[in-house]
This record gives sequence, structure tokens and C-alpha cells, in this order.
Amino acid sequence: MNKLAFYINGRWCKPLTSKQLLPVINPATEAVFAEVYLAKTDDVEAAVNAAANAFDAWSQTPLPQRILKVEAFLAAYQKHYGDMAKAITEEMGAPASMSYDIQTETGVGHTEAHLQAAKAALLDEPIGEHGQLLKEPIGVCVLITPWNWPINQIVCKVIPALLAGCTMVLKPSELTPMSAQLFAQCVHEAGIPNGVFNMIHGTGADIGNYMTSHPLVNMVSFTGSTRAGVEIAKSAATTVKRMSQELGGKSANIIFADANLSAQVELGVEACMLNSGQSCDAPTRMLVEASVYGQVAEIAVAAFASITLGDPEQQGDHLGPVISQPHWHKVQHLIQTGLDEGATLLSGGVGKPQGFEQGYYVKPTLFGDVNNAMAIAQEEVFGPVLVLIPFKDEAEAIRIANDSPYGLGAYVSTQDMGKARRVARQLRAGTVHINMADLEYCMPFGGYKQSGNGREYAGFGLHEFQEIKAIAGYR
Ligand code: NAD
Repeated sequence: MNKLAFYINGRWCKPLTSKQLLPVINPATEAVFAEVYLAKTDDVEAAVNAAANAFDAWSQTPLPQRILKVEAFLAAYQKHYGDMAKAITEEMGAPASMSYDIQTETGVGHTEAHLQAAKAALLDEPIGEHGQLLKEPIGVCVLITPWNWPINQIVCKVIPALLAGCTMVLKPSELTPMSAQLFAQCVHEAGIPNGVFNMIHGTGADIGNYMTSHPLVNMVSFTGSTRAGVEIAKSAATTVKRMSQELGGKSANIIFADANLSAQVELGVEACMLNSGQSCDAPTRMLVEASVYGQVAEIAVAAFASITLGDPEQQGDHLGPVISQPHWHKVQHLIQTGLDEGATLLSGGVGKPQGFEQGYYVKPTLFGDVNNAMAIAQEEVFGPVLVLIPFKDEAEAIRIANDSPYGLGAYVSTQDMGKARRVARQLRAGTVHINMADLEYCMPFGGYKQSGNGREYAGFGLHEFQEIKAIAGYR
């Protein structure tokens, strides 16, 4: 059995005293295929000390040399690309094609975008009549990531931190340690100096508080649930750390009557179902102009009928399972809640889909006649569940879209670009997609309200890892 260890100070190592191992489970087969060591506080101490000791040298390494190291990382990542896609499929059930074409590809796309942005974002610049603005690395960073887009999240923290000159301890999700392990191997092969990048595995309950309150840590960058994000922010506050939070979402997708309905509704269903509905910015609330509500419901039902489930090891555009048994139960509970609240079940429902009794498969579920006050419209399900909510006019669409504790993504479909832009400006969300346009790697990503603080990706992501110093009388 593959037993996954830690990467501290440039070498692979076992825990100092912990004997605790967590099984790594393939969510499609429910089979245990590896085990991961869970760190205790002594391991955190070793990793943080390694990062602190490496900080002076790495932060003073000239930017062109740091860029060369990140380019070497990218070459190693591309060498291991196929294995990375397989690891993600096995550990979290992303179907092979999606894992290869999207999940793993984000590692390349984001690394390249950060490299392109690095010079402009990191170089000193003159300010005022005699001043100079320095952008310095913030210091030792703790990076905590979730399981749903495992490599996307790791890359969007480690790469900007490396380029900015920070040193770090990564704690990936204990549910997806395989991709993290391979990522660390790529860092190792790139020859990044010892102690700059460290990785330990562990749970929030065992080591979360210790890591995020450690006095030698200057910044915590967290992606995950709003629940954990709040806990971590409190823990980090006692030593006034910089805190970046990328949290949950319940993103609205406004479909106006004049939209190209069949295309936009199908794309909306597809985007909601991608990754088995386990994306933080999935468009999970479809807000539909009342005059076309019946038509949209029909298109959505037909789109749901064409969704297939399947073995993640197979190529194709089918959906895989959700991540774990506890998560499967959480999704079931919320589907039942929707039924209890009186929403109309248009597709799917509770229980395992026929023929998928093994594995954490969920029936793709569509609810109609949903009211935005229902739990199914307010809570993040994080599964293949879409709700349809009617609205009467533009003002009501905006009000419903913004009536959420979250503010991560938002989507607007209409052929009237004036209306699209006007509505986009009024949505309280970090990203807005007009007519389902994709985000580009150079664009910032992050949330309003309880979806988080700060922005990741490219230049904006690099700024998160910097302190700004103003020197007067410099010139
Ligand atoms: P989670 O909060 O359970 O766990 C995320 C990470 O935090 C894991 O590594 C976990 O071990 C760790 N953790 C949990 N409690 C901790 C604590 N008290 N101290 C320190 N670490 C702790 O989230 P998850 O289930 O892994 O991920 C799903 C959530 O992530 C969803 O809510 C989703 O919306 C969110 N997410 C947000 C974004 C974004 O960019 N906004 C991206 C992806 C996922």
C-alpha cells in the first residue's frame, strides 16, 4: 500500500511521532488504494521552521532566477501531466477526459499566466517626486487547499508565492493527497531550494489551529468552506496575519427572455453539472424570466435527460461520483430538504442512480418552482443539483441574484449587450459571465460577502503575497 509522506526541507520524510494513517478512497469504487500519514504539531513545527529558515535567501534571490525555477517546475509538471490527470481521477472521481483536459490543464494555464504577470507585478516602481515603491514578499505562508479542483487551487497559491519570493507550507486536502504528492515531486525536480516549499498532510481538526496561529507564519491563504474559513480567520487574527479566503458560493445564472434560450440553458446546465456540481462558482441557481419559464424548464429537463453517469476511468463527457460518503449524505439531505420545502422535482431525486449502487453517485437533480428563501436556494449543495427560480423583471432578477450570503460567481444571458453590462455591474459577485463566456487565466477570481476576501490568479494573485514598502527620498 502506497503510504504518502511529507516533503520538508527538500526531502521526503515520515512524521516525527504520528502513527496515524488515513485511507485514501476512490469515490467511484469505494476501494482504499493508498494511505496518507496525518501530521501532528511537531511536523508542523518542522515544516514552518524549514520555511522560516529558507526565507532570507529565497526572498533575496533575484526575480529572473525565481522565474527560471518556476519555468523548471512547469517543465516537470508537463512531463508528469498524464500521471497527474490519472491521480485526480482516482482520488476524486473526475472523469478521465475532464481530468486531463480541464483539471490538469489548469496547472499549466495558471502557471503560465502567473509567469506572464510576474515582471509587471513584482518589480519596484517610482512613486511621486522622490519615492520608490517596493513590492516585497510577505514572508512565510501557510497554504490550505480543498479537494474539488485540487491542482488548480494548489497552483494558484504555490506559484504566486514562489514568484513573489515567499516560502511556504502547503497542507492540501487530506481527501486528495495523490495529486499534491505529484505536485511536490515536480517542485523537487525543478530544484527549488530546500525549505522554500514544504508540504504536510493532515486534518483541520488535528493541526489547523496550530498552523494558522503559528507566530512564524505571516500569511494564511485558504480555499475551502466558509465554515473553515471563518475558523481559520479567527485563529490567524491573534497574530494579525494576512488572510486570504476563497470560500463557498451559490451563484445565480440570470436567463432573460431574449436570450438564445436553448444554447444558454444547455450551457448553464452543463456548467452547473461539471465536476459533479462540485465547483465553488457553479451556476446553481437558474433565475428565469417568468414569460419563458415553461420553455426554459422544458429545455432544462431535456438537458438533464441527456446527462450520463459513468466510470471516471473511461473517456467521455459523463459525470462521476461525488467525493466521499459523508458528502454523498450531505447532498442527499439537501435534496430531501428541497422536496420537504415543496419545490417541484423535475429530474433526479434522492437515492443512488440505478446501476450505480457502488460509488458515491448522485442522481443529477433539477428542482422547479423554487423560491429564493428555500434552503435549496440559499445553501451550497456542492453536488449535481440545479434549482429554477422565476423572476418578473430586471430589477427582481438583480434582487434575487444578490439575495444570498455568498457572492462568488454570477452569470447573465441576454442578446441585449446593454442590458447584460448594466446587470453585470449591479451583481455583487467577484466574477460575472455574460452569455456563459469563460474566464481567462489573466482574470482575477474571488468573492464578495461570505465567499471570501482577496483575489487569486495572475497579477492579482501575485499581489496577495506582497507587502508594499514606500521609500521617501529614494531618488
Ligand atoms: P473544507 O473547508 O472542509 O476543507 C478545505 C481545507 O481546509 C482542507 O485542506 C481541510 O483539511 C482544511 N481545514 C478544514 N478545517 C480547517 C481548520 N479549522 N483549520 C485549518 N484547516 C482546515 O472544504 P472542502 O470540503 O475541502 O472544499 C469544498 C469547499 O471549498 C466548498 O465550500 C467550495 O465552495 C470551496 N471552494 C472555494 C473555492 C474558491 O475559490 N472560492 C474554490 C474551491 C472550493
